[in-house]
Amino acid sequence: MSPDFEEKLRKKDIGPGDRIRVSSRGKEYKGFLMPPSTGGSGTLVLKLDSGYNVGLSPDHDFEVEKVGNVDERFSEVSPVEESFEKTDRDIPQVSILLAGGTIASRVDYRTGAVKPSFDEKELLSFNPELSGIADIEARKIMDTLSENIQPRDWTEIAEEVKKETDKGKDGVVVAHGTDTMGYTAAALGFMLEDLSVPVVLVGSQRSSDRGSSDAHQNLVCATKAATSDIAEVMVCMHGSSSDDFCYLHPGTKVRKMHTSRRDAFRTVNGEPLAKVDWENLEVEYIRKDYRRKDKDRETKLKDGFNEEVALIKVYPGMDAQALDAQLQGTEGVVLEGTGLGHIPIKNDSMRRMLEEYVDDGNVVFMTSQCLYGRVNMNVYETGVDLQNLGVVGNLNDMLPETAYVKLGWLLGNYDKEKTKELMLENMRGEISQRTEHEEVR
Ligand code: ASP
Repeated sequence: MSPDFEEKLRKKDIGPGDRIRVSSRGKEYKGFLMPPSTGGSGTLVLKLDSGYNVGLSPDHDFEVEKVGNVDERFSEVSPVEESFEKTDRDIPQVSILLAGGTIASRVDYRTGAVKPSFDEKELLSFNPELSGIADIEARKIMDTLSENIQPRDWTEIAEEVKKETDKGKDGVVVAHGTDTMGYTAAALGFMLEDLSVPVVLVGSQRSSDRGSSDAHQNLVCATKAATSDIAEVMVCMHGSSSDDFCYLHPGTKVRKMHTSRRDAFRTVNGEPLAKVDWENLEVEYIRKDYRRKDKDRETKLKDGFNEEVALIKVYPGMDAQALDAQLQGTEGVVLEGTGLGHIPIKNDSMRRMLEEYVDDGNVVFMTSQCLYGRVNMNVYETGVDLQNLGVVGNLNDMLPETAYVKLGWLLGNYDKEKTKELMLENMRGEISQRTEHEEVR
């Protein structure tokens, strides 16, 4: 912001988080004043009631005034400073854990790149309405772009979530990068047993300081979801490309299906659990088969993970050498096979290699790169051969990445025989009872 303009705001006692009206060049904007960005582009950023941000250049002439009433969907919006302090209001207690990703990032105007840099105070000052939904306690647990997240980070996040459930919170929101959010959601789903309250992962495709950011709506809906009755690990993201609702996807069935669209996430081989309407912030339950919230139930942490696992994509041209390189040092692998669940075992060395690997006691689990539908190794001779070699996974409809996370988690907590057995059992909603040919959403 330019010094002149800053002075003007100071004189009117206006600071970040205040709701203001700005008139500039015959246009009027109403919204919350955002904190200044790093690197100082000088732009005044206003978050409009729609959740969109508008940037106003300091070179223009502004009239500005502080205005009163807040968006009426947020019943108890308090000034931003108050939202940092815990109060005794009788509203749900929600913890927000910041793990990184675009939702916790801003554009660095020196480099033009987006990087995680928010702390909890900034997150709350960008989203002051959150304190009208719940009493928020926010803290940063890491600031990692999710492409860099490792299995040990899943363990750390699970431990941090468990601390919050032990404190008696009504729900936990984890702000996380979108790239590998599905993996983390699955990992938390397996690591947190008998979950007592909602755990909602949320991210955004565009950072808060961009005009078309989806961060605000996603975060507000996620906070609302954290006050719901669904004691599951979920992913809350835009449900359509407009600003009308967010879906709550089951953590073991969700996948990022688009690089940049706001509605990039889909529930695969199943239905979302619920949606949160952006107009009235109501949670509309879609499914009935979710675990009900019960704060008296104790969430248990089972966070062992064996990293000696791999996820291997099958492709035409794959040879025994390529397979060998990927099997090295592992105790179990998930194959992302073609179609109903195949790998080219007409290739004798490939067949022998798989056979030896299984005979050594290692686990080979089949999934399909089709994503939608079920593995069926009873249909073609390839599938029948694979089963005879000891490849397991027939008739499952797990996402390959969920199967990978589950395999590492099982091998971190059980022996190989039990792992093979449990890979075929539905433990956290990862295997559907029946696959329907439903509309994709
Ligand atoms: N690369 C980012 C991440 O996954 C993308 C995002 O957050 O949307 O952390």
